Amino acid sequence: MSEQTLKIEARRSSIHGLGVYVVERIRAGETIVEIVGERISSEESDRRFDEKQTEAGHTFMFYVDEDTVIDCGTNGNVSRFINHSCEPNCEAVDDEGRIFLEALRDIEVGEELVFDYRLTWDSGDDPEDLKVYLCRCGARSCRGTMLDVVPLSEAS
Ligand SMILES: [Zn+2]
Repeated sequence: MSEQTLKIEARRSSIHGLGVYVVERIRAGETIVEIVGERISSEESDRRFDEKQTEAGHTFMFYVDEDTVIDCGTNGNVSRFINHSCEPNCEAVDDEGRIFLEALRDIEVGEELVFDYRLTWDSGDDPEDLKVYLCRCGARSCRGTMLDVVPLSEAS
């Protein structure tokens, strides 16, 4: 998928910093963009995360499986600016290890593209550290956090 075919662009968002907006109508089920970036191990992702915690910028690490994380901040594309919402209009789909965002419904021009980050966490994580993932997306179904419902250690 080339950048030219993208129907989205990054702009200032009402949710957080930059967001990604639809510039050409997207239909339900359509593949919108691939989530790309440097593929690193989960250990490396932890290391980079701690390093970047001290900076103001928001980091976007996409968890593929227990061994692989995509660091969208390195060699990433516009997908790294997509904000979280508990009421998403697209979802991440794993196609043999490559991650694509697919529309859950028709999305009109001007709408902000959002997906449910479902960030992985562990029951051993410090609750204070997890507070940075509080969600204020404003959706009626907002669960108050960008974290996945179940900790990694309990996920199958
Ligand atoms: Zn929310």
